[in-house]
Amino acid sequence: MMNIITTVVGSYPSNCFEAKSFNERISKSLGLFDSYKKAIIASVNAFVRSDIDIICDGQVRGDMVKIFASKINGFRIDDNTAYIKGKITPAAHPISVRDFQLAFKTAKSLDKRFKLNASLEDIFNHESKGVKGILTGPTTLTHSSLIENFYSSRENAIYDIAKALLVEAKELEKAGACAIQIDEPFISIGAEDINVSKAAVEMISEELDIPVILHVCGDLENVMSNLLDFEVDILDLEFSGMPENIGTLKKHWKSSYDKNIGIGCLNTKMKAVDNKDDVLETVREVQKIIKRDNIIIDPDCGMRMLEDELSIGKLNILKEIRAEGI
Ligand SMILES: [Zn+2]
Repeated sequence: MMNIITTVVGSYPSNCFEAKSFNERISKSLGLFDSYKKAIIASVNAFVRSDIDIICDGQVRGDMVKIFASKINGFRIDDNTAYIKGKITPAAHPISVRDFQLAFKTAKSLDKRFKLNASLEDIFNHESKGVKGILTGPTTLTHSSLIENFYSSRENAIYDIAKALLVEAKELEKAGACAIQIDEPFISIGAEDINVSKAAVEMISEELDIPVILHVCGDLENVMSNLLDFEVDILDLEFSGMPENIGTLKKHWKSSYDKNIGIGCLNTKMKAVDNKDDVLETVREVQKIIKRDNIIIDPDCGMRMLEDELSIGKLNILKEIRAEGI
C-alpha cells in the first residue's frame, strides 16, 4: 500500500511580524517576543489547515544563519554579517526548543493527531503527526561567515559547529521532535570538500535516535552521487524549480539505497498556484526512480518569499495529493 505524507521545508511567510534590523531585534528582543509568537502560531495554523504531517515552527525568526550564529559561542554578528571570532562551542541554552514547544502546543490544540516523538511509521500510517526541528548545517553556517580568528582552516570550524549543533539537535529530540532536518544549501554550490560536509552532517546524524532529514537545494549534478551516500534517513531535494535533478537522481540512484527522498514538487519561485498535473508529474517521475511505498512530498524551499494566500493555495495542492494519491 502506498502512503503519502507531506512536510514543509522551513521558512514560511510571517506577515504579522514586521521584520526590523537584526540589531534592533536584539536590543528589543523582549518587547518583540510576542510578535514572533504570533508568527509561529500563524504559520502552524496554516500548516495544520493544509493537513501537513510533519510541520516546523515556520522559522519565523528570520535569517537561517543568524538564528544560530547569534547563539552559538564563537560567533559575533556585526552589520548583518556573521564572523567567527574564536573557538566555537555550544550555545549556553537551547536555541529553538521554546519555539518548537509553542509550535507543538499550537498544532496539538488544532489536531489531536500531533504527538511528541511521533514515529515516522505512525506518521506514514496517518495515525500521528509530528513537529520537526530544523538546523542550519555546519557547512552552510561556516561558509556564510567570515573567519577572523582561531581557525586556520574552515574544516575545523565546520567540525566544531557540528558539535555545537549536535547539542541543539539532542535538545530538540528530548523535547519531542519527530525528526531533525539539517539545511545545507551550500553543499550544492561546491563551497566545501564534500567529504568534510558529509563527516560534519554524520557527526550529528549518527548520534540521534530520531530520523534525520538532509535538505540540499539547487542543481545537484556534481554532488548527487555523494549525497546518496550520506548517513541520513531522508534526503530532501528540489525537483519542481530544478527539474534537472530528476535526471541526476535517475543516473545515480541504486535500488539498494534504504533512504527515502523528500520530493520538492511545488515551485516556490512561481508567483502563482502550481498546476496540479505538473506537481503530480514531478512526484510520479521521482517515484518511478525510487520506488518507495512511503512517499514524502513538500514544496521546494523559499516559501518565505510568497504572499500568504499564495502559500496556502500551494500547500492545498499537497493536501489534495496526500488525500487522493498519485
Ligand atoms: Zn533550500
